Amino acid sequence: MSRFWSELVHRLSPYVPGEQPQIPGLVKLNTNESPFGPSPKAIGAIRAAAADTLRLYPDPQATRLREALAVYHKVSPEQVFVGNGSDEVLAHAFAALLKQPAPLLFPDVTYSFYPVYCRLLGIDYATVPLDAEMRVRIDDYVGRPGPVIIANPNAPTGIALSRAEIARLVAARSDAAVVIDEAYVDFGAETAIPLISEHPNLLVVQTMSKSRALAGLRVGYAIGDAALIEGLTRVKDSFNSYPLGRPAQAGAIASIEDDAHFQQARSVIMKNRADLTAALVRFGFEVLPSSANFVFARHPDHSGQALSAALRQRAVLVRHFTAPRIADYLRITIGSETELARLTDALREVLAQNG
Ligand code: PMP
Repeated sequence: MSRFWSELVHRLSPYVPGEQPQIPGLVKLNTNESPFGPSPKAIGAIRAAAADTLRLYPDPQATRLREALAVYHKVSPEQVFVGNGSDEVLAHAFAALLKQPAPLLFPDVTYSFYPVYCRLLGIDYATVPLDAEMRVRIDDYVGRPGPVIIANPNAPTGIALSRAEIARLVAARSDAAVVIDEAYVDFGAETAIPLISEHPNLLVVQTMSKSRALAGLRVGYAIGDAALIEGLTRVKDSFNSYPLGRPAQAGAIASIEDDAHFQQARSVIMKNRADLTAALVRFGFEVLPSSANFVFARHPDHSGQALSAALRQRAVLVRHFTAPRIADYLRITIGSETELARLTDALREVLAQNG
C-alpha cells in the first residue's frame, strides 16, 4: 500500500490468474491452455514478423487480421474488433456497452474477471444464480432491465446453452446489450455469431488462447453489429491504439488460415474430454456435462481443497476455487493423453490413501 495510490486503486480487488509455477515435470491442468502447440504456420509467420520492420508501429486497425476473421466467420470487417487477448476485448466491452443505469446481469458462478472489471469501471452489477444443476436459465434474464454478459460455454462449469437459447435471450432483451463470451465455444458448443445480422444488441467475444493454442500471443476478438464495434473502437483508441503487435497480427492470421491444424487439435481435445470424464466417473466423481476444454467435477467424499493440494504434491496442477457454491469442485483442463494418464494415476493414489 502506498499513500500515493489513487482512491480507485484502494478499492480494486484484482483478478487472480491460475499459477504458472516452475515445478520440474509439472502436469499443468489449471489454466485451460492447449496441450498441443499452435499451428506451425502461425509460428512461421511470427518468426517472419520478427524482422527489421519491428521498428515500425503495427497497423492500429489490424486490417488484415480483421479481414481474415471476417472471411472465416462470414461477416464484414466492420463487424470485427480485435484486442490483446479476449480479456482486453471484454474490458473494452464493459466500458463501451455494459456500463448503463440498470445493473449489469451475469451468473453467480461464471468467469471471475467480470466483477473485477465492474469494480475498475464503476459498473453496478447483480448476479443471477445458476439453477440447481448449475445451468444458466435464460428466463432469469428476461423481464428485468440491465445489460447481460454470459460465458457460453460457462466457466468454470463448462455447460453450454444452445444457439436457440441465446437467440431467445437476445430477442427478449432487445432493449439492452448482450455480450456472449465464447472463449471455449470451439470445443463443442454452438457460436452465436450467425445471430448478429439480426440482433444489433449482440456482441460475441472469442479468443485464440484456447482452441488455437495461442495464449502466449494474446489475441482475442469480438463480432457484432458495426455500431457496437465502433463503440469498442472508440474505447480502444482512448486507451491504446496498438494493442496487437506485428508478430501477433501475423501469427493470428496464419492460425485462422490453417483450419486443418485447428480441427485436428479440437477433435483430440474433445476425445480426451470424453475419456477423462469416463475415468473420473469411475473414480466416483460427479462431472458436469462439459462443452469446453476442461471439466468441472466433485467427489462426494473428498473436498476440492484437499484433492487439489494432494494432486499438487504429485506435481499435477488443477484449478480449485473457494467461492461458496463451487468450493468442492476441481476444474481440470483437458490435457494430452500422457498428461491425463499422469492425472488419473495421481488421483488413484490419492483416493486409495484417503478413501
Ligand atoms: N473468458 C473466459 C470465460 C475465460 O476463461 C478466459 C481465460 N481466462 C478469457 C475470457 C480470457 O482469455 P484470453 O484473455 O486469453 O483471451
